[in-house]
Amino acid sequence: MKQLPFDWIEVLPSLLNKTKTTTARKAWNDKATCFWCNKKFKDLVKHTKRVHEEVLPRSYDYEKPPKYEVGEIVELVWTGTSIRAIIDKGKILGKAKIIKREDIALDKMNILCVSGDRFKINPDDLAYTEGFRNQGEMFKKLEEYANGLETPKKFYLYSFKWVKI
Ligand SMILES: [Zn+2]
Repeated sequence: MKQLPFDWIEVLPSLLNKTKTTTARKAWNDKATCFWCNKKFKDLVKHTKRVHEEVLPRSYDYEKPPKYEVGEIVELVWTGTSIRAIIDKGKILGKAKIIKREDIALDKMNILCVSGDRFKINPDDLAYTEGFRNQGEMFKKLEEYANGLETPKKFYLYSFKWVKI
């Protein structure tokens, strides 16, 4: 069984009370090869913009395929270290079934659906299912996770249902 790791302290309460039902994961590799230079860069988007004056990165290994499939049962685990007093590192939070995967494009304030049956997602709704207190907290955290959202970036948004197994 695959593990779905979490380490953001902001969403821990929603994991513990099982109200968290979505998770957005990067759809790219942090280190990817530039098409023009043929060298690996830690942040290909920034490099591409600065050196090649292109908004979007061009690379063969920038895109990361989705890790989880719809219908799959996964083990949700806590991998954070900052709250050892509350819960041990590597603790299993529970099990969940992946019920949906959407490809989304996210910038500092919008969430657009690239695939699926809806065009965009209300940030307040996503903040709730992601387990944040409000959309401001969510965008701040996602921007940090994405290493900047000046240009939209692609994420896989997994919806899951907690299961008893
Ligand atoms: Zn380059």
